[in-house]
Amino acid sequence: MKIKILAMAFPLAVLISCNQSNKIQEEKKQPVSHVMTKEEQAKLTPDEVLKQFIDGNKRFQSGVTTVRDHSKQVRKSAPGQFPKAVILSCLDSRVPVEDVFDQGLGDVFVARVAGNFVNEDLLGSMEFACKVAGAKLVLVMGHQHCGAIKGAIDDVKLGNITAMLAKIKPAVKMSQDFQGKKTSKNDEFVKYVSENNVKYTIQQIREKSPVLKEMEDKGQIKIVGVFYNLTDGTLEFIK
Ligand SMILES: [Zn+2]
Repeated sequence: MKIKILAMAFPLAVLISCNQSNKIQEEKKQPVSHVMTKEEQAKLTPDEVLKQFIDGNKRFQSGVTTVRDHSKQVRKSAPGQFPKAVILSCLDSRVPVEDVFDQGLGDVFVARVAGNFVNEDLLGSMEFACKVAGAKLVLVMGHQHCGAIKGAIDDVKLGNITAMLAKIKPAVKMSQDFQGKKTSKNDEFVKYVSENNVKYTIQQIREKSPVLKEMEDKGQIKIVGVFYNLTDGTLEFIK
């Protein structure tokens, strides 16, 4: 009799377990409508934000990114924003910044300029992001096959592009120790200059923004450089 009850209970347990599993699967399919709150932002450390970005990039690489309900997120985020980070990226259309880290509406400030350098306006924007709005991470992102970097290497002169490229020239100078052909046709050299450009930008942030430097020294923010590979969506951290 006992055996019979157990035998009957077993499929029931499996059924309940399957139902729960299906429920979890269903919940997983539900688009995310949550947006970052002030409390959640305050609890995050710079390292936790960086980890979330690394995990998000892995999801982006695998093609399984978070499904989001943008309409609900738009309405929920309207009263205020509490982003986790500020990302300084190149203008390039092949670098969809939020997608690269699988982040959504209200998650990140994105500052963009061809060649991801800093000037007064961009530093001001980044100071606003961290000091005023509470972001915990400054991410400077260069990328593979960057046209701005190639333009600086080739010393392109055209309209306002000339003055813009002048901001990237220090990175070209920093790269003169490169062993090999120092031309824009050499992908390895272009990458070398891109990485030096990220290093130079981070150096400029520390030198020209006492606000961000102090926050970094106190451990309130982290300033990190990355190189984004267009071909496979992967990131390389720049030391
Ligand atoms: Zn670029």
